[in-house]
Amino acid sequence: MDFAWSPEDLAFKEELEAFLEKEMPPFIERWSENEDLDASRGVMGVMDKRKAWQNKLNEGRWAAILWPEEWGGRAATTAQQVVYTQVMAKYRSPGIFNANGIVQIGPSIITWGTDEQKARWLPPILDASEHWCQGFSEPQAGSDLANLRTTAIKANDGSHYVVNGQKTWISSAQIAKWGLFLMRTDPTAIERGVKHEGITTFIVDMELPGIEVRPIREITGDSLFCEVFFTDVRIPDSDRLGDEGNGWLVSMGALGQERVGSAGQAISMAQDLRALLQTARAENPDALRDPAIRERVAKLHIQIEATRLLIMRALSKVLKGEKGWPEVPLAKLQWGYISLWLAELALDVLGPTGALLKGAPGAIDGGMWARNYVWQRYTTIGAGPTEVQKNIIADRALKLER
Ligand SMILES: Cc1cc2nc3c(=O)[nH]c(=O)nc-3n(C[C@H](O)[C@H](O)[C@H](O)COP(=O)(O)OP(=O)(O)OC[C@H]3O[C@@H](n4cnc5c(N)ncnc54)[C@H](O)[C@@H]3O)c2cc1C
Repeated sequence: MDFAWSPEDLAFKEELEAFLEKEMPPFIERWSENEDLDASRGVMGVMDKRKAWQNKLNEGRWAAILWPEEWGGRAATTAQQVVYTQVMAKYRSPGIFNANGIVQIGPSIITWGTDEQKARWLPPILDASEHWCQGFSEPQAGSDLANLRTTAIKANDGSHYVVNGQKTWISSAQIAKWGLFLMRTDPTAIERGVKHEGITTFIVDMELPGIEVRPIREITGDSLFCEVFFTDVRIPDSDRLGDEGNGWLVSMGALGQERVGSAGQAISMAQDLRALLQTARAENPDALRDPAIRERVAKLHIQIEATRLLIMRALSKVLKGEKGWPEVPLAKLQWGYISLWLAELALDVLGPTGALLKGAPGAIDGGMWARNYVWQRYTTIGAGPTEVQKNIIADRALKLER
């Protein structure tokens, strides 16, 4: 690693810290009845709080730092993104209401939208007045996303498209007013062997007739994501984002950013490990004298620190104009493992009561650790499953033969 934060980065950090010092304590106080139970309530259980916090961040122009200034952002540099995620993690900033909207959908609209589309959709994403979801995955199109088959066929007069098909695993679709969806406008592309072509991006009004949203009950007992069914849904041509057939490019642009933003995870994982040890000291101190447990704690601590350094090395490369490669996919792989190890360690170290869920008498920390144990399965799937990351590393970094 061979970089130092610039004076601008340090000023950015100080301004953000001053904002959080001032705004977070009264906010947390106001929402205190939920505070220590957030992790036990799941994302959908704290949406009101997330909405209020996004608005508070937006008041200080801290909600969408990547967006240009004219749309309420700060056009943050890569280094500032890292500073931001680290500071937000250090202060344990609550989550926001429109995470997908701000991180992925907004930047796509900024890049590809017409002036009219930007004026119509960016403000409600930013001020959290309308919720947004992202509709890519289908039953036969996950890792192999280009296999998507939900069709959008243009009407003869060109005024609208007629959509039929099914999406799945769409987070928070049950509360979304809008969604960014990928549809197949050329159904012949798959059989012609050019499946990345013939895909178009649409902004979908989730209240249109013919859309049915069915929440999926998960192993946690909550319903974060949904199936979305389309039956002869008419989407106006004015709600197409980018040119017809250009959907792959439109939607991948925002997703393709270097993921050095995961730098904040090192801080929150280290905090989680410390919190677990503190709870274990109070609830089940004998476990911490077990040499096998002590070894697992030490290993986790080392892995978290090593992954933090991996991300900083990626940042150093990116700042020099190089790709954060292969450190970024390696770090993604690491976070998947570390999250699972931490979740498993928690149940072993807390003893039998650690496995009690929210609502059970004696549940520790509102059942947060037990909930986390099942929830963390997602880290090896979301944002690219472990096996697919391994394939990429084997192919592109290790250059193994297929
Ligand atoms: C918490 C969460 C939230 C999500 N939210 C959204 C959302 O808002 N919108 C949305 O569109 N999607 C969302 N998804 C879906 C997510 O994008 C997909 O789950 C992901 O792309 C994997 O696709 P899949 O589930 O179809 O699994 P598959 O791709 O079918 O994979 C199944 C298994 O096969 C393995 N596998 C697949 N291909 C290969 C290969 N080439 N080589 C070796 N092994 C392979 C995988 O690693 C995995 O173990 C969400 C998922 C999660 C977990």
